[in-house]
Amino acid sequence: MVNPSWEIVIGLETHAQLSTVSKMFSGSSTAFGAAPNTQASAVDIALPGVLPVANRGAVERAIRFGLAVNGGSSDNINRRSVFARKNYFYPDLPKGYQISQLDLPIVKGGGVTILSPTRGEITVKLTRAHLEEDAGKSLHEDFQGMSGIDLNRAGTPLLEIVSEPDMRSAGEAVAYAKALHGLVTWIGICDGNMQEGSFRCDANVSVRRPGGPLGTRREIKNLNSFRFLQQAIEYEARWQIETIEDGGTVKQATVLFDPDTGETRSMRSKEDAHDYRYFPDPDLLPLVVSDAWIDEIKSTMPALPEMVRNKFIEFGLSRAQAEHHVSSIETAKFALSTFTETPPKEIPDLSNWISGILSAKLNADGLNFSQSKVSPEQLRFLSGKVADGTLSGNMAREVIDAVWVGEGEPDAIIEKRGLKQLSDSGEIEKIVDQVLAANAKSVEEFRAGKDKAFNALVGQVMKASKGKANPAQVNEILKRKLSQL
Ligand code: ADP
Ligand code: MG
Repeated sequence: MVNPSWEIVIGLETHAQLSTVSKMFSGSSTAFGAAPNTQASAVDIALPGVLPVANRGAVERAIRFGLAVNGGSSDNINRRSVFARKNYFYPDLPKGYQISQLDLPIVKGGGVTILSPTRGEITVKLTRAHLEEDAGKSLHEDFQGMSGIDLNRAGTPLLEIVSEPDMRSAGEAVAYAKALHGLVTWIGICDGNMQEGSFRCDANVSVRRPGGPLGTRREIKNLNSFRFLQQAIEYEARWQIETIEDGGTVKQATVLFDPDTGETRSMRSKEDAHDYRYFPDPDLLPLVVSDAWIDEIKSTMPALPEMVRNKFIEFGLSRAQAEHHVSSIETAKFALSTFTETPPKEIPDLSNWISGILSAKLNADGLNFSQSKVSPEQLRFLSGKVADGTLSGNMAREVIDAVWVGEGEPDAIIEKRGLKQLSDSGEIEKIVDQVLAANAKSVEEFRAGKDKAFNALVGQVMKASKGKANPAQVNEILKRKLSQL
């Protein structure tokens, strides 16, 4: 638990790799996993005399993002933005500079609404989102006393999304990162594959006395899983608090998270923008986007997660439940087609199956909702059976399990396994009478005021009915009988 006399402040810089076929400024392929240096053209390896040409598909994706984080309005999209050179030396950067955007990014402002674990619904404001190119990769394995260089990734298009320092806990940072991940995949601008590095976060963390001025931040680089993001921020915040309470000071620095130890350690003292000697790239004209083009892109945008979430809330679901169903566009499509034309009272069961049993199965098999082995129609069939009393909730889940492993259609499984809830009250009364006669001790305890004894009796009735008695009826009949004794 974090000391309540400290407040944690977090801002995230997220790199989303844009899902274009070719690179930001060259025609080379961006496909992942090719043999080293087979996708590095003259532009990517910075041969003299080559010139960059901006990729229209990457610009279009940045515009889609701008529209998505500004409620569909385009007033946060700069009609004129400028590519700049960010100069530094590194073996994986053959040009000696990275092409990025500084003073005039393509997107400025906007926000992402999240459900904070502690503060309810909050909006994390965005400072900017700018286009840039990725660097190559140094390879340290397989080389005795040397490093290899793979320039396949050099020039891959990135959208760097910079948030304001609006988050106050690791949980909020993770909620934001998940929402952003959901959004960029939803609008089809990034494949979201975190293992391959298509979506990675740098977390800027500082601590302060509540309401006081911002503390000095340290930036944790390249977190490519939500779990690492959570662990790294928690460790870093605790380290900063302990450092200050021990009389030390936090110095601005760039740090790395080590998943094996769960600790962060300093990589280098932090550079400032002026260290990079940014200047407008003379090889590239300012990037001008027309209103007509933006309108054209707008017309191809899907309904945004926020709108779909509100639709789920109108179906009577809680905010948290609705949030689950918009965590990806596949989940949302699945949930929408499941709820459509369903009697409202069946929707809560369906919603719980989607966020519970089905999500767990998909996760375990590494699948998404478009690959679910149980269809919306099959789920609706089962919720109908629960609603008319034929099946209990447990029985319905048993059928879902069976459909999942390919046992057949739900009606055939119900038939084959003899799944039918006992809803005949005469039959249930008989079982209740037998159980009351055989459990005099529990009955005594119930009379003496022990509520647990009631649950024990319900358990006995369920057992005697081989789990088939309708639990609501059992409760009601048992209560009535006990009060008559
Ligand atoms: P850079 O890291 O490239 O120097 P900025 O100075 O613009 O860029 O800040 C980057 C990120 O750091 C932003 O997400 C911002 O919200 C966050 N940030 C800035 N100051 C603080 C602070 N005191 N504590 C936590 N995060 C901060
Ligand atoms: Mg930074």
